[in-house]
Amino acid sequence: MQKHHSMSRRDFMKALGLGAAGAGTVAAAVPLFKDLDDMMSHGETLDHTFKRAWYIKERPLGDPTTETDWSMVKGHENNYIMNSTGGQNYGFTAEERAERSRLGSEAAAAGVARGYGGFMTRDYALSNGAGVVLNFDWTQPKTFGYLNVSGLPKYQGSPEENSKILRAAATFLGASSVGFAVLEGDEKKICNIVHSEGRPFAWEDVEWPYDTDAKIVVPNNRTLYAIAIAEEFSKELWRHGTNDFGAGQMRGAANSDRYRRWSIVYRGLQRFLTYMGYMAFGYPNHQARGLLPAAADGILTGLCEGGRNANINISPEHGMCQGYFSLVTDLPLAPTAPIDAGIRRFCKTCGKCAETCPTNAISHDKEPTFDLFDPNLYQFNKNNAVKFIAPGKKNWVSDSYACAWGTNIRSGCCNCMGGCTFNVNNGAGIHSLVKSTVGATSLFNGFFARADSIYGFGLTPDDKKAEWWDKSLPVSGIDSTICASDGAYRKRAY
Ligand code: SF4
Ligand code: SF4
Repeated sequence: MQKHHSMSRRDFMKALGLGAAGAGTVAAAVPLFKDLDDMMSHGETLDHTFKRAWYIKERPLGDPTTETDWSMVKGHENNYIMNSTGGQNYGFTAEERAERSRLGSEAAAAGVARGYGGFMTRDYALSNGAGVVLNFDWTQPKTFGYLNVSGLPKYQGSPEENSKILRAAATFLGASSVGFAVLEGDEKKICNIVHSEGRPFAWEDVEWPYDTDAKIVVPNNRTLYAIAIAEEFSKELWRHGTNDFGAGQMRGAANSDRYRRWSIVYRGLQRFLTYMGYMAFGYPNHQARGLLPAAADGILTGLCEGGRNANINISPEHGMCQGYFSLVTDLPLAPTAPIDAGIRRFCKTCGKCAETCPTNAISHDKEPTFDLFDPNLYQFNKNNAVKFIAPGKKNWVSDSYACAWGTNIRSGCCNCMGGCTFNVNNGAGIHSLVKSTVGATSLFNGFFARADSIYGFGLTPDDKKAEWWDKSLPVSGIDSTICASDGAYRKRAY
């Protein structure tokens, strides 16, 4: 018989050091639960396959907590991004690129000489092991076979039924979270217009997607649907941010691992949808860069909210440590709504990521802004901000090129993700209560943001990083039971 946690809301408030007045305010906003397990078993649900915590509220389609002026939104030329070769050539001068490379090599050598976790032989070996990905093709390879190859009829179901089946298949194949959108109207506007390596995306009246050396073709004669997928990665390793010698290869292994796992999910879903009788496409030749800006798609389909670092999303279930990907199909799917879990409101009063960013790449402003094109906001590539920012979102300024500079010259960074207040382990009950309180009221946000002693998390000191090799951790360092409530797994809302 399962033993219930005994911490009550009163205990929780006491642990936070809040008095009766604080407890009363929370009591007014938070529903009454017998104990933690009672609270975590309450969830809103699309269907029973995706049960979420009670405080995660759905918003209207197309209206995420990242305020969006859809009249300004247009597709991005995705060759102007900081982490592509073309983008780096665009963002930095030749002298800056050479200097960046020299400083990066020096930082790695200093880390190796010191011998801390992240810079040992086994760490480099792990990072390289995690970096193995399957090949990508824009659409299903002919070797998969096409419709009805096995004599089975093409699968036909309602959009709701199809969504349920696709979520079950994607989860089985390795996806942490799955959402859906119809690729029409405003959602279609976010599609990239140029791939990161320079070929344009062309929408044409064709029966099947294809690509040539000159273009990447998307069928324009049918309704298409986006499948948004998130891959959680190791929170533990992501806390290996940069201190004196950079984040190093252990944090790098956690980063690479999402692409390895995504490549398996992508190929698996392509084959799954082939045998269902539908198309599945999205990434021409690279595991990270496709037709859709996957982070935006994650926000619009309700997997997460946008955070203070405009390049990073935050999920109520998985925190900041998720990678976002997307796939396109013609299997009809029911769209999932954007969410409000109190996360973006929390970012207004938190700002911890901006404080720990070593290159001042994240805004310290309380409020986000639509005015992201002021050259004075950026440290590099000042006069060409318009090329690397997708317009129409009210966001905090994130200086992508300053981040690329700072990350490289320190041999890795990601203090913003590792140290984010939401980078907590879900198994710890008090964090569930904190997150639910944040979702219900913003009154305590300032207090929570600085309550590191209560959270017990944060960046790992350099001399403690090697201890990771002594820990007993779950598969891939992630909690795959989040959102699961069947199959003899622990029953909970998240
Ligand atoms: S550290 Fe704080 S401000 Fe930064 S993304 Fe996380 S919650 Fe938001
Ligand atoms: S990765 Fe490091 S440099 Fe880049 S935004 Fe995050 S904290 Fe700043």
